[in-house]
Amino acid sequence: MGKTGGFIEYSRKDHGVRAPQDRIGDYGEFSQRLPEDEQKIQAARCMNCGTPFCQAGLDINGKLTGCPLHNLIPEWNDLVFRGKWQEAYERLVLTNPFPEFTGRLCPAPCEAGCNLGLNDDPTSIKDTELQIIERAFESGWAKPISIVNRTGKKVLVIGSGPSGLAAAHTLNRLGNQVTVFERDDRMGGLLMYGIPNMKLDKRIVSRRLENMKSEGIRLECNMPITSKEQADQILVEYDAVLLCCGSKKARDLSVPGREALGIYFAVDYLSRNTKSLLESDLTDGKEISAKGKHVVIVGGGDTGTDCTATAVRQGAVSITQIEIMDCPPEKRDYNNPWPEWPVVCKQDYGQQEVILKYGMDPRRWLTTITKINKGFSGEIISVEVSRVKWEKVENSIVAVPLKGSEEILSCDLLLIAMGFTGPEAAIMDAFSVEVNNRGYPVSDVLFHTSNPKVFTAGDQRRGQSLVVWAIREGIECAYEVNHSDLRTTYVLL
Ligand SMILES: Cc1cc2nc3c(=O)[nH]c(=O)nc-3n(C[C@H](O)[C@H](O)[C@H](O)COP(=O)(O)OP(=O)(O)OC[C@H]3O[C@@H](n4cnc5c(N)ncnc54)[C@H](O)[C@@H]3O)c2cc1C
Ligand code: SF4
Repeated sequence: MGKTGGFIEYSRKDHGVRAPQDRIGDYGEFSQRLPEDEQKIQAARCMNCGTPFCQAGLDINGKLTGCPLHNLIPEWNDLVFRGKWQEAYERLVLTNPFPEFTGRLCPAPCEAGCNLGLNDDPTSIKDTELQIIERAFESGWAKPISIVNRTGKKVLVIGSGPSGLAAAHTLNRLGNQVTVFERDDRMGGLLMYGIPNMKLDKRIVSRRLENMKSEGIRLECNMPITSKEQADQILVEYDAVLLCCGSKKARDLSVPGREALGIYFAVDYLSRNTKSLLESDLTDGKEISAKGKHVVIVGGGDTGTDCTATAVRQGAVSITQIEIMDCPPEKRDYNNPWPEWPVVCKQDYGQQEVILKYGMDPRRWLTTITKINKGFSGEIISVEVSRVKWEKVENSIVAVPLKGSEEILSCDLLLIAMGFTGPEAAIMDAFSVEVNNRGYPVSDVLFHTSNPKVFTAGDQRRGQSLVVWAIREGIECAYEVNHSDLRTTYVLL
């Protein structure tokens, strides 16, 4: 274990963050690593519990607790405490192929499950994970390996988000010849276009892609697969195909005036900003700019927060974030005990930056947009909002606008961050994959589809989720493909 009694001796200390007044001037990452010695002390707080919920990845009452990848957390905490960083790295990558992504992006359900969290601050696991992988890259341990035994099987992964990359990585290491097709001009899925550079510097994604290429994976951009002709050719050429195309259909706003100009989906807004940043350091004018505008964001979740932080950097005049649900409590409710994921109100980086620059939290809870008003040229000029009350109507609970609470907010850029309704149909039609009434592939066996050569993983299979889940799905799907593949070979012999 870490240090005997370390959890009594030491307090939790999180990674540093760049001060909001400094970081809103650029798109550099805002989190900063602790010095090595301080991170070792954090690892020393681990108690090596008999039942380490941190690595369990359990669903308790519909709420996740513990790491979905089953990272061997107490083991690498102990190795870090003893300064055995390389061994900690070797232990970490047994279960997680991309700790540099989760160490930056994961909401850390491991920490929610940490036994220390019962009556103290949990061990800081995510920061230690990031420290291990970054030291491994700096020290040259995280280098490509050569795959000696090749199976002679060819596998195509369509979609290069974390699920597709994790599947490609695993299948390649199992000896298969892997190709990844991506329709965008850069690899990475939402890691590249979606999640802003402040949370994940795109050089971190490129660094991993270089390693994967060196291990023999073919990565091909600008390859949208949408037609039956393409799919038929692919099925002839490859032994198995994995659909890892995400859950891309954005949930729309259905109110009068929706057709006004100046309304965008969050991912389009975020992606264009990142593309312009990468291609021209934001000088090509191709981003959707919030400069000098009143910005309203519909959706109080993490995607809305990323829009908030981007709009701050672009120089918005005002930012309002509208959320139809009520604000969660400050502390866990009695019916949401440890080790369940705590449903509590958090002030994320985007809100902190708005508070610093504009003097108030941008979020309005229990609020909805009821109408969009247009100017003479059809451009959005304002939105009408109302407070809502959740009421039981017939058999469902609905948000009813409260009379007398109507208000008009100036708005010349409206961003819709209301989540996603499911995967795009074209790719499933192309491969003749059966779907359920919500548009997700159906099959009796996990990760399979109705087409025996076609598999699926990540958001495309389970719906919009987290990077850590996408990685787990990619790995498990890869083993399922490999297993089926071996089974076929066995039967043929
Ligand atoms: C703005 C935003 C911020 C987020 N922040 C976080 C966070 O901080 N932490 C976290 O854990 N999760 C976060 N998430 C969720 C997380 O990014 C996703 O759950 C994860 O990326 C899903 O991975 P995936 O591989 O299944 O799909 P994606 O990452 O969506 O990748 C799918 C890929 O498939 C490609 N594709 C689609 N159709 C085709 C086709 N027909 N042909 C070829 N290619 C195709 C797409 O271009 C895309 O590159 C965020 C999501 C969003 C939208
Ligand atoms: S991947 Fe996420 S849940 Fe797993 S150890 Fe890392 S931060 Fe925790």
